[in-house]
Amino acid sequence: MTDAIPLCVPHLAGNEAAYLQECIRTNMVSSVGPFVERFEREFAAQVGAEHAVACASGTAALHVALLVAGVVPRDVVAVSTFTFVASANAIAYTGATPLLVDSERETWNVDGARLYDHVRRRAASGRALPRAIEVVHVLGQAADLEPILELRDRYGIVVIEDAAESLGARYRTGPAAGRHVGTVGDLGCFSFNGNKIMTTGGGGMIVTNDPHLARRARHLTTQARLPGIGYTHDEVGYNYRLTNVAAALGVAQLEQLPSFLSAKQAIARRYDQCLASQPVTLPPDPPWSERSAWLYSVLVDLDRSGTEVARQLTHRGIESRPLWTPLHLQVPYAGAPRLGGEVAESLHRRGVSLPCSTGLTEQEQDRAVATLVEILG
Ligand SMILES: *Cc1c(COP(=O)(O)O)cnc(C)c1O
Repeated sequence: MTDAIPLCVPHLAGNEAAYLQECIRTNMVSSVGPFVERFEREFAAQVGAEHAVACASGTAALHVALLVAGVVPRDVVAVSTFTFVASANAIAYTGATPLLVDSERETWNVDGARLYDHVRRRAASGRALPRAIEVVHVLGQAADLEPILELRDRYGIVVIEDAAESLGARYRTGPAAGRHVGTVGDLGCFSFNGNKIMTTGGGGMIVTNDPHLARRARHLTTQARLPGIGYTHDEVGYNYRLTNVAAALGVAQLEQLPSFLSAKQAIARRYDQCLASQPVTLPPDPPWSERSAWLYSVLVDLDRSGTEVARQLTHRGIESRPLWTPLHLQVPYAGAPRLGGEVAESLHRRGVSLPCSTGLTEQEQDRAVATLVEILG
């Protein structure tokens, strides 16, 4: 029996050990230390943002981004129904209501045209508009921001990008040509959880080009404590700062990000080729963007459930997961207002994610493909 192939695991083969040793040697293990600021500086440079604020998790980053964007309890914030639950949880923490928007069939990302139409009609009849849009770039695919940016320009709706899954994805053409996901909206958020393209064990980042938003975000993540030696706080803050230990991992991982990205993209291209003639729909790869190819997922074309295929793959040593259950089918968000949801349901019903760790070998990938073909056949 050969070893099981994991779905998506970290690769810690760079300077991780050396930098962690440095934290221990200098006694800097908590949230004050040189790696935190270095990680912020280098991350901002990597994605092309002016400012970066390191947070304890991607969810914390989203929560604070929403708060500094001015989201308050009576507000509505639009978000994809097809996403990981954290996208909506962050909205719920602010007391605002998520408006769950269906996906486009071709890109799996938010149906911006549908949201645009909704907002335009509400504006025409003088009804309240969403305060913000949290655009999720799912699974390593850049969302089409054209209608979203139009909503910002016409109606003043704040744009927050949930780029937790798509660090490294970029726009080739369109209004954001040449930009990285996360740097086009007012604020962008990333995650460094264990299964993301790079990891700090747990962690997140907010990026923005607005110095005021950055300053306020940093303030909120450090208990809203005022400078000086005393304990004076001017509002309710959070203990959301990243630790120096986690940031040390982050700096080491960031050094390897270009190689992680080319590995992910090569894995995705090879799966695309190997699966082209199989009864599956390949993941979106629109020409206007470059995917980071974080989690390689296909849709099963046959009358078979993705969850069942994922279960059989896992049973045969190819770790696999179905795609998310849409938020409108989850207990906490079943009553949330929404625009459609049928596309998200079909993605969930048919979706299967395949092993795609950056260290995946071609032999392992061939085994994954062969097993999938066998199950489908
Ligand atoms: C992983 C993820 C998050 C949350 O990040 P954590 O670091 O796990 O808190 C948020 N949104 C999306 C879309 C994610 O995939």
